Amino acid sequence: MNIQEKLNELEKILIQTNINFEKNVSLKKKTWLKHGGETNFWVQPNCKNQLKTILDFLHSKKMTFEIIGNSSNCYFTENYNPIITITTTKVTDFDIDQNTIRCGCGYNVIKLSKYCIQNGIAGYEGFIGLPGTVGGAAINNSGCYGSIISEVVKSVEFLKKDGTVVTLSNEQLEYEHRSSVIKKHKNGVILSVEFDASKKGNVKLMEEKAEKNKSHRKKHQESTYLNLGSIHSELKWGKRRWDLRYLVFQVFAKIANKIFSNNGRKISNYFLCLLYFKPSIYKNISDKNFNCFVWKSSNITDNDFFSYVNFCKKNTKKAELEIEIKNNQKC
Ligand SMILES: Cc1cc2nc3c(=O)[nH]c(=O)nc-3n(C[C@H](O)[C@H](O)[C@H](O)COP(=O)(O)OP(=O)(O)OC[C@H]3O[C@@H](n4cnc5c(N)ncnc54)[C@H](O)[C@@H]3O)c2cc1C
Repeated sequence: MNIQEKLNELEKILIQTNINFEKNVSLKKKTWLKHGGETNFWVQPNCKNQLKTILDFLHSKKMTFEIIGNSSNCYFTENYNPIITITTTKVTDFDIDQNTIRCGCGYNVIKLSKYCIQNGIAGYEGFIGLPGTVGGAAINNSGCYGSIISEVVKSVEFLKKDGTVVTLSNEQLEYEHRSSVIKKHKNGVILSVEFDASKKGNVKLMEEKAEKNKSHRKKHQESTYLNLGSIHSELKWGKRRWDLRYLVFQVFAKIANKIFSNNGRKISNYFLCLLYFKPSIYKNISDKNFNCFVWKSSNITDNDFFSYVNFCKKNTKKAELEIEIKNNQKC
């Protein structure tokens, strides 16, 4: 069967099983960043069963596909045109018993955080501003403001490429800073996530904590322009321990923050670009954080972004990408 025949069959199955889909869709209209090429099939299952149905079909036909949650950790390159893109944002099955919450992989993390706070379940207050799905967060080991996924995930229900469904425990997920065994190997799809709901907390105190986290995020993180949050999970400046240029920068940044308070960060970001002879990078960096690239307009190209990524790589001891660059269909 050639690819066109397989796609015809895919369309038939989607119609028969009532799964939402659109054909020939620009990823600029669909992704968090409003960036990317075009996908032939944009598929949006409504529940875990629909997701499984479509995955079983694709596996049986050996068809590759792209799977995303809210795409808030993904950079789709301009010329990347995945044939099939599945988004899980409607896979929001939800169920709770005494000590366990079970969510479909597309359940929104902020919603989960709010639910836990309101119901006195501790450990989720930090997730209040995290713009993703539980599946994406479980893969990336997302964390913020004292809450971290690896500390609250009990297990995930995982559909392997051979079509079998297994349960992977927290230990089997081999969590590391902003990574997991699934992020490394891309060998299947998370269908649902089980969370620990056994830790109890005071609702009022947790609400206060969440409010504090929200206002800290608002003040210190980019909110004006489109962005992917932190681009690198680690960004260690200075090639050597005593990197003279970086020491000069640190002194400058301290003085700038004192003198210009609110604008100190912005001025020191510009100074850093000058120090490394690349002032052109500055225009695409958030005033609040050098590790945050901003898409101020639709004219920003892949070249602009990769030139920033290469700049960071070249001038730091370690620049580990936190986001994922999507330019090749792998699943
Ligand atoms: C403004 C902003 C602020 C942010 N702040 C933080 C922060 O404070 N801390 C933090 O850790 N992160 C942060 N992030 C990054 C991001 O929000 C998180 O990593 C989030 O958990 C990603 O969820 P998602 O649903 O958007 O994942 P996506 O970006 O859709 O996917 C991430 C990866 O997982 C894969 N994937 C998604 N769902 C599945 C599934 N069901 N099965 C298999 N693979 C899957 C995708 O293919 C992709 O490779 C921020 C991002 C933004 C834009």
